[in-house]
Amino acid sequence: MQEFKAVLSFFFCPKICSSLFLHISQAPRLPKAGETIHGQKFFIGFGGKGANQCVQAARLGAKTAMVGKVGKDFFGNNYIQNFKDNGVYTASMTQSMIVIAGENAIVIVAGANLLLGDEELQRAQATLETAKVLVCQLEISPHASLQALWMAQKSNVKTIFNPAPAIPDLHADFYKASDIFCCNESEAELLTGCPVATVEDAGRVGLELLNRGCVSVIVTLGPQGCVVLQSTDPTPKHIPTTKVTSVDTTGAGDSFIGALAFYISHYPTMPLEEMARRANLIAAVSVQTTGTQTSYPFKKDLPAELF
Ligand code: ADP
Repeated sequence: MQEFKAVLSFFFCPKICSSLFLHISQAPRLPKAGETIHGQKFFIGFGGKGANQCVQAARLGAKTAMVGKVGKDFFGNNYIQNFKDNGVYTASMTQSMIVIAGENAIVIVAGANLLLGDEELQRAQATLETAKVLVCQLEISPHASLQALWMAQKSNVKTIFNPAPAIPDLHADFYKASDIFCCNESEAELLTGCPVATVEDAGRVGLELLNRGCVSVIVTLGPQGCVVLQSTDPTPKHIPTTKVTSVDTTGAGDSFIGALAFYISHYPTMPLEEMARRANLIAAVSVQTTGTQTSYPFKKDLPAELF
């Protein structure tokens, strides 16, 4: 196994290959059920929240590694190649056959993501223990995510947990396993049952999430920036962002989290609010161009004061 002492970030992005590719077309409106309309542009992009976050952190200069499973096919190969092209360490990525089972009218697609379990985690343990940051989402089974978060905390690796796609009955241990619990407004709403429209709402739900046992909470608020709360100072702090003309906000939250992971790994003593301020600015760059990973900035394209 390759020694990888300098791992700075460690991500999970275990989605099946077919759902890792985004097929995007721009059209004047959404088609109605059964309707065909002309789109103006068509392009394919790489996706998966973990992958997006990992690629953003790598583009800022973090040494990143990815743990995940993809299909053993053309798509899986391309998916791994995209990581390599972005300088992401992929030795912990595995490829496996995807099982598709059909029964009557129900089709079950058991994707490679759901196959990621204890065996892959054990194999990735050495990589994880030398990392500075672990970023987990809910794209793999909650059990595997939680195991990874515990493993990281035991090794003093900082954990960022992004509860997305959100599930309403998130296990209480996820909060305790999160150094930073980072969610957007709709995820915060689903987890707390309280509507989140304003900065004040975000502060209120952020406090509720913090009280569930996280060290810090960040609730992102689109063009309003984000709200940061820390157990050492639970007063919600609003971190506004700059006003920009947004073209496509898809993946802005992943850009924010990737940037946050980068700052934690490179500037561990920087105050969290300052990291969030800079992550806001990087995510604001990503919304000014179409696409997800294609819109993520590289270090060379950003002002020096962000580094
Ligand atoms: P998600 O993409 O998960 O829905 P948000 O919409 O909250 O997450 O966006 C995440 C971050 O991206 C925000 O905290 C902000 O920093 C930035 N952002 C999103 N939309 C805009 C926008 N229109 N203008 C400037 N920054 C934005």
